[in-house]
Amino acid sequence: MKALKERIMQDGLCIEGGILKVDNFINHQIDGKLMMEIAKEFVKRFEGTKIDKVITVEASGIAPAIMVAHLLDVPMLFAKKKVPSTMNGILKSEVFSFTKSRSYNICISEEFLKRGERCLFIDDFLANGNAANGILDLAAQVGAEIVGMGFIIEKAFQHGSEMLRNKGVHVESLAIIESIDNCEIRLSE
Ligand code: 5GP
Repeated sequence: MKALKERIMQDGLCIEGGILKVDNFINHQIDGKLMMEIAKEFVKRFEGTKIDKVITVEASGIAPAIMVAHLLDVPMLFAKKKVPSTMNGILKSEVFSFTKSRSYNICISEEFLKRGERCLFIDDFLANGNAANGILDLAAQVGAEIVGMGFIIEKAFQHGSEMLRNKGVHVESLAIIESIDNCEIRLSE
């Protein structure tokens, strides 16, 4: 996606350890116009796939996921990173965070994820695929189906995409980073 790639080259910052900072338009301040273009592109990439619900993980996945859900006219569900005391019937999965170097639980109320539901997972980044695996696990716990996964930015030098495709998941990434060695961002064509 051309506009996204240009924006990454313009405003993306590299941080040691293979982390790309895009706080200027995705992760802190959000460019709503670009986010809507991103959402439209996801809808196009998953055209023809029946989707009952869009699913994501708080916090950074919420912005693109709600826009995609709105365009598809389906609900959006986000997995929480803290187990709320008021939540009954909780489904949990442990996820290792690449950026924070620690594990945490993601959780969803079973009230909102049902057997047979066809869900599209949307997130900001795909690195090693741990968050994506957590979502696959939550869906498997109730018998819901993940019919696709869309990421705004995939870091190809980590191997989440390969792992997910090997599991038969339909993965779509709108910008693919080949490397950020020496703080130089290299995007794939
Ligand atoms: P994974 O679970 O695929 O290993 O990592 C994906 C999650 O970690 C994303 O939800 C995102 O929040 C975070 N993440 C991974 N790599 C980066 C990165 O380079 N920059 C930012 N801002 N977040 C990242």
